Amino acid sequence: MAFLELRGLNKIYGKNHVLQDINISIPEGKLISFLGPSGCGKSTLLRCIAGLETVSDGKIYLDNKDLTDVPIQKRDVGMVFQNYSLFPNLTVFDNIAFGLKIRKEAKEVIARDVNEMLDLVGLTHKKDRFPAFLSGGEQQRVALARALIMKPKVLLLDEPLSALDAQLRKNLQNEIRRIQRQLRITTLFVTHDQSEAMAISDIIYLFNIGKIESSGSPIEIYMSPKTEFAARFIGNYNLLTSEIFSELTGCRLEAAYLAFRPEVVKLSEPEFGDDSYFFSAAVKEVNIHGNFIRYVLLAGKAEFSMDILSDLGDPLLIGETRQFAIRKDCVLTIHES
Ligand code: ADP
Ligand code: MG
Repeated sequence: MAFLELRGLNKIYGKNHVLQDINISIPEGKLISFLGPSGCGKSTLLRCIAGLETVSDGKIYLDNKDLTDVPIQKRDVGMVFQNYSLFPNLTVFDNIAFGLKIRKEAKEVIARDVNEMLDLVGLTHKKDRFPAFLSGGEQQRVALARALIMKPKVLLLDEPLSALDAQLRKNLQNEIRRIQRQLRITTLFVTHDQSEAMAISDIIYLFNIGKIESSGSPIEIYMSPKTEFAARFIGNYNLLTSEIFSELTGCRLEAAYLAFRPEVVKLSEPEFGDDSYFFSAAVKEVNIHGNFIRYVLLAGKAEFSMDILSDLGDPLLIGETRQFAIRKDCVLTIHES
């Protein structure tokens, strides 16, 4: 049995079958992301594991123990939410100390452990502040320390960075990863942001309305999506039906869709050989993203995007028609629609 096992989990609210037969085996010490659009059941699953919700059917095993009916405070699970939920009337130190005080630990033990946690999350110099005088990122570090001090077997993070601005978010992603590796703590990280899941995870589980759509390492999920949903949600794949693809390239391939990422579309060069598909297309839109430019190209019924690094020459102009190429081995066949 894996360190954390979810077996046949179902959660039903009235007529809403929110989790449908979830089976997951999670190895110890890894960071696992649950990725999916809003409303697909990620928080519900985390709340079931934490014991904040009961399951309608199925079993949860942690470290060879059946957790399914164990009350929340006896599960050895720590949780951090998007909205920090700190105690506003307690200092940083006392917020972090809270769980140990409830457990009636000795004062010296509390002081030692809290100081260790303050050091871990880099907040020693702010230990006497109240939450209202901390930035969002700092508040989230306190929430993390408050969960970690209880030495949980599993750390559950429900969109912990979604309320933060982009730069802070990147920093805290790295921090969470560093802390997770340092403590080797099994961590479940919920996010709706595919780039965040890619950046942080050992394994990603992609969810689509209550079900696991696919799973794998970030690279596997990104490079070889198996379904249309996975291709659209991760990697911004262009998806063309077989018919439209053959109109574009003159090649008919058996598949529901042909999928290719925006960055594999290139401006055609004379040295490109017969390992590529060639076609002409018109520039419909130009979006400057900074380090790259995203173009929307149009050729007959085919509309798709292309990413080109900003330093590769002058930008193309809207309305311009050019020759493009895609390497054949960069085109994936998607059979499920
Ligand atoms: P996510 O975290 O992926 O955005 P949630 O787990 O919050 O999704 O919600 C999944 C579905 O379950 C939604 O349709 C939501 O309305 C429903 N849901 C969540 N909590 C409850 C509840 N306490 N009662 C009824 N329906 C709920
Ligand atoms: Mg949620």
